[in-house]
Amino acid sequence: MKVDFHIHTIYSPDSVITYPMLVEACREKGIDAVAIMDHDEIEGALEFARSSEEARARGEWAPLVLPGEEVRTSRGEICGLFLTELVPKGLTPRETMERIREQGGLVYVPHPFDLLKFKRLRARDLEEHGGLIDILEAFNGKPRLPLANFLARRFLADHDFPRAAGSDAHEPLHLGAAFVEMPRFEGADDLVDKLKDGVITGKMYSPFSSAFTRLRIRLSGTA
Ligand SMILES: [Zn+2]
Repeated sequence: MKVDFHIHTIYSPDSVITYPMLVEACREKGIDAVAIMDHDEIEGALEFARSSEEARARGEWAPLVLPGEEVRTSRGEICGLFLTELVPKGLTPRETMERIREQGGLVYVPHPFDLLKFKRLRARDLEEHGGLIDILEAFNGKPRLPLANFLARRFLADHDFPRAAGSDAHEPLHLGAAFVEMPRFEGADDLVDKLKDGVITGKMYSPFSSAFTRLRIRLSGTA
């Protein structure tokens, strides 16, 4: 299955993706599952996951939705996957990772080497917290600095983290720009295990084109 591990919905202040847009874009691009990583917000992820489950139960096509959150910590962003409740922002990276794990979630570090982000985890943080990190984002579709994906790959060449990829889409157009093609999985632990056989595919797009597309959607009210 093809999984885009990092997308935002309309519940993020900077995204325009509604549930119908998500379903349509996934169907069009052949994306079977998405992880929703709204900024410091989990309501949308839970709601979209519920809608998708209901649709699938009715026999309709819908992507599998993994509820997550992109949490702003005291030192950069950390995502949680398989979350059931909000992880508060502003905690330290370690506290955030522990909160994610306490609720049975997976710790997913997004865009680890986006050097233009002032607050971010450094390579030594990744090493120090390695035991708490489940997945590292090896490819992000919208790096502020394109070099970031290269640096992530270089770091991963001599660090043994399970790796994934996400488009970081804030609008339907960019959904699926990066994804992992991997065997089907059942739950969090199995997902990490199956990532070993995952193949990452990714295209980068500019944060500026993203901003422009969102503005156009807002003004026209359509995708
Ligand atoms: Zn994001």
